[in-house]
Amino acid sequence: MSGLDEVVRPECGSMRKLLRVAPDAVDLAAVDPRSTPGLPAAAGAGKERKGWARKQVELLGAELGRQQEMLYSAATGAAGPEAPASAPSQADAHLNGGRPRRVLLVLQAMDCGGKDGTIKRVAGAMNPLGLHIRSFGPPTEEELRHDFLWRIRRALPPPGYVGIFNRSHYEDVLVARVESLVDEATWRARYDLINDFERELTGSSVTLVKVMLHISYAEQGERLMERLTDPTKYWKYNPSDLDSRARWDDYQAAYADALARCGTDAAPWFVVPADRKWYRDWAVAHLLGETFDALDLGYPPADFDVERERQRLRGEDERVKVNGG
Ligand code: AMP
Ligand code: MG
Repeated sequence: MSGLDEVVRPECGSMRKLLRVAPDAVDLAAVDPRSTPGLPAAAGAGKERKGWARKQVELLGAELGRQQEMLYSAATGAAGPEAPASAPSQADAHLNGGRPRRVLLVLQAMDCGGKDGTIKRVAGAMNPLGLHIRSFGPPTEEELRHDFLWRIRRALPPPGYVGIFNRSHYEDVLVARVESLVDEATWRARYDLINDFERELTGSSVTLVKVMLHISYAEQGERLMERLTDPTKYWKYNPSDLDSRARWDDYQAAYADALARCGTDAAPWFVVPADRKWYRDWAVAHLLGETFDALDLGYPPADFDVERERQRLRGEDERVKVNGG
């Protein structure tokens, strides 16, 4: 085993390329949920890979944290943390296209697919100050009075933030379709609506990272049994999980269609084999890291005269000495 104290890049060069699904060739059955694509030889073999990957996620986490801070600093700068994106400052010259970016990780998976665990491990490495994490459950009465994207728009991360969606607008073409919560014409129309919406987002400073955590039927069964065996996990179980499980194939078909219809160059879908939790976290951390790299982030320059401020500070020190001492 090597690479114990530095980040080892995947051998393929890019996890984004490796895990991206081509919209015209979505075949989930062909993706082995226990596979570990892109894992370098440095990971070793067999059981030692887990420890290696966990350590790598820690190291990567430090990198993600730095990148996230740059993203955040560009949006806040000296103008104040909640400065509107439209308020120009000297720092703007340094930003992509003059607008502070935001990154939005969209996590979708079957129950027990590992969305919560991924957030804990990968987002856990970043600064909570710059994170914007939202979970989506069944729509409330108020949400149902609006179109399906209404609650999504309200949950978008502000400029400079890393947003994470634990489920998303895709539920409206997944559970809504499989459980016939709306008629077919309605869910069918949503693919185009989603594409329009995401085009609008990517056109206005949002970088989307859409990830499906792909687990197997057998692995879901084991994780559900764990939840029914360990009293500290009862809270994660919902009897309706078994109803969804009974419709596994319908859900897989709905996922395949969503990935095929809504995978675009601007907002591609990635499928992460997720039966092995350590691989899942490692892969998602790299997907995020590569996304940050492509944004070419940096810290904003000072929008004040640094030398003058230093002099003022020294002058202040002098006065305190005179007065106080
Ligand atoms: P969990 O993620 O385990 O907390 O469960 C959230 C539940 O909310 C899942 O059963 C989802 O299918 C359900 N859900 C999320 N979004 C929607 C939606 N738009 N319509 C109906 N159910 C939804
Ligand atoms: Mg659940």
